[in-house]
Amino acid sequence: MDKVVALCKRRGFIYPSSEIYGGISGFWDYGPLGVELKKNIKNEWWKSMVQLRDDVVGIDASIIMNPEVWKVSGHIEAFTDPLVECKHCHKRFREDHLRDLRARVPSTGVGSVQSKKEFTDLVYCKDGRKHEWMKPRNFNLLMEVMLGTVDKNMAYLRGEITQGAFVNFQNVVDSTRVKIPFGIAQIGKAFRNEITPGNFTYRSREFEQMELEYFIQPNDKEGQKWFEYWKKQRMDWYVSLGMNKQKLRFRPHEQNEKAHYAKKAEDIEYQAPFGWAEFEGIHHRGDWDLSRHKLTYKDPDSGEEYTPWVIETSGGVDRSSLFFLLDSYSEQNGRTILRLHPKLAPYKVGVFPLVSNKAVLVDKAKKIYNDLRGSFTAAWDDRGNIGKRYASQDEIGTPFCITVDYETLEKDSVTIRERDSAKQERIPIEKIPQYLQKKLL
Ligand code: ATP
Repeated sequence: MDKVVALCKRRGFIYPSSEIYGGISGFWDYGPLGVELKKNIKNEWWKSMVQLRDDVVGIDASIIMNPEVWKVSGHIEAFTDPLVECKHCHKRFREDHLRDLRARVPSTGVGSVQSKKEFTDLVYCKDGRKHEWMKPRNFNLLMEVMLGTVDKNMAYLRGEITQGAFVNFQNVVDSTRVKIPFGIAQIGKAFRNEITPGNFTYRSREFEQMELEYFIQPNDKEGQKWFEYWKKQRMDWYVSLGMNKQKLRFRPHEQNEKAHYAKKAEDIEYQAPFGWAEFEGIHHRGDWDLSRHKLTYKDPDSGEEYTPWVIETSGGVDRSSLFFLLDSYSEQNGRTILRLHPKLAPYKVGVFPLVSNKAVLVDKAKKIYNDLRGSFTAAWDDRGNIGKRYASQDEIGTPFCITVDYETLEKDSVTIRERDSAKQERIPIEKIPQYLQKKLL
């Protein structure tokens, strides 16, 4: 984990937010490579969930909504986490996290730097006294904002993007040709006043979600069918983008951990260095939301009116980005290789002249580079030797590197090197776009 965090900073994937002022707990900035990775994840999600489907449409709802939404949705009352606080030093933990840490720390030993620190934080205050935890208090996670200049009104930054889909349910039905079963998909920022942000970007206070609300007929048979269907779709999606199957699992929620809206819930978890960790939830929300918002659906064929049930898939863009990074990180003979799926890699291709002091080679390579940039994200590198440039691209996951050499000038061909196998082949310049396109399918 520490190595990935360091790589993210060094190569421009993720930086602490407002770092020059000491940062701010629970907020992160994505750098030049991080923004590409995140964009690729979102694009792939959108493609599979909206673009390739007849039964799903997308929306982009606002972050701040009428506060009534959060009252009706139950978030003001029930969107809470239990907080425990130390009587002496006021250190705070989410009660269930404290329990998890207690269970984990002894079993991991106090070997690693991280677990040593966790162990110390758990038992002792900064002044060396032992913590004395007070009784847990419930703490609402919604972040408040003030609207207006003179007459200020309180509103909330959305705690989940979900509600935007429900409040637009009627708009979507009226303005498109969707019929049940159908879904509304959305990607966007959500905000939570997390008690203990941590594990790098895993638990942030500002994060992005990618969600589908899928509306179905209200009966158990349909509920079961679509719940299973979406579980499989979502797990298959992560695997199709290269995530190691052995490190993925479903975990059904216990009765006492289900959200206030959930009839049934299962998480997709990844085996992270800090333990199995949720990064997507499949939720059977029943008719909770639509009935709270007093929304119904009239079947255009039968005329029957009813409150649809909802199956939700709720994934985190930041947690996915982190797990794709952790999963693809590898070291070979002292070199770091990020084995990201080509679809997710920030740069699809690197282009280099064999040497940087021969204008004919540089010009030829620049032309290839500029021609490719219209269709692929491409990196240019003419520093150091070829070996160093390959290593530098391997470290950020660039799947293909093209070198322009003297043979290029004679035969209009280049060498193209594949990241994972380090194999090189020679191909005509005109075939490069097709070659890359095929690998990106
Ligand atoms: P947790 O139990 O870890 O707090 P949750 O069950 O409250 O998560 P959901 O409300 O189901 O999470 O949110 C759906 C998804 O949104 C999560 O699977 C995760 O990917 C993402 N998410 C939720 N909270 C955060 C957060 N604080 N930071 C980053 N991503 C988050």
